[in-house]
Amino acid sequence: MSKVLLVEDDPVVQAALVHALTELGHVVQAVSTAVAALREAANQELDLVLLDLGLPDLDGVAALRMLRGVSNVPVIVATARGSESSIVSALDAGADDYIVKPFSSEHLTARMNALLRRTGTERPKPEHVDVLTVGDLHIDLGQRQARLGDKMLSLSRREFDLLAYLAQRPSKVITRRELIQAVWGHPHVGDDKTIDVHASWLRRKLGETAANPKYLHTVRGVGLKLSAPE
Ligand code: CA
Repeated sequence: MSKVLLVEDDPVVQAALVHALTELGHVVQAVSTAVAALREAANQELDLVLLDLGLPDLDGVAALRMLRGVSNVPVIVATARGSESSIVSALDAGADDYIVKPFSSEHLTARMNALLRRTGTERPKPEHVDVLTVGDLHIDLGQRQARLGDKMLSLSRREFDLLAYLAQRPSKVITRRELIQAVWGHPHVGDDKTIDVHASWLRRKLGETAANPKYLHTVRGVGLKLSAPE
């Protein structure tokens, strides 16, 4: 599991990439501007940055130069400008690799894995690292299985994805907007019913109710939180 910062201003492309990368087991944080990207890169350890060159606030190549001032994080530039000169200027500015849009998630994954191998930041993935534990809840990301105590939970794909996403960020309130992007893979369109419905199914399988939650907490008007019972 790698921590990826995605810098992409197109909401549709951003949502699709967040979905694809999350599905692959990466922890993805998405921002839409160069300024936000620089702030994030300066403030935390990242394994990889995927940087769109056409950003609203700063030219991507200029952003990359500034990024290199604060971080050695591996960077893949994603660009619609496939010309040799723009690729060369991105590499000169400190990109480790580039990928020309449009690209498939398979192509991106191959590039990312190759870069992570080269830079040695790919974290080892023995089976046990892929199991998340929150209280008595154990979520095996590799096997896509969840159990509560000794009891295996029979979850749909979305229920599992929702649970896994929350379990990767225990005790943190995750907004509906983030959930709909990360778990459903589309931009937030104001339809909160989807999340409510899946949360209520998940809750039933966890043997709890919204009124009397143990693990899954609804934070009214904001989103959801998964935490171990007190
Ligand atoms: Ca763009």
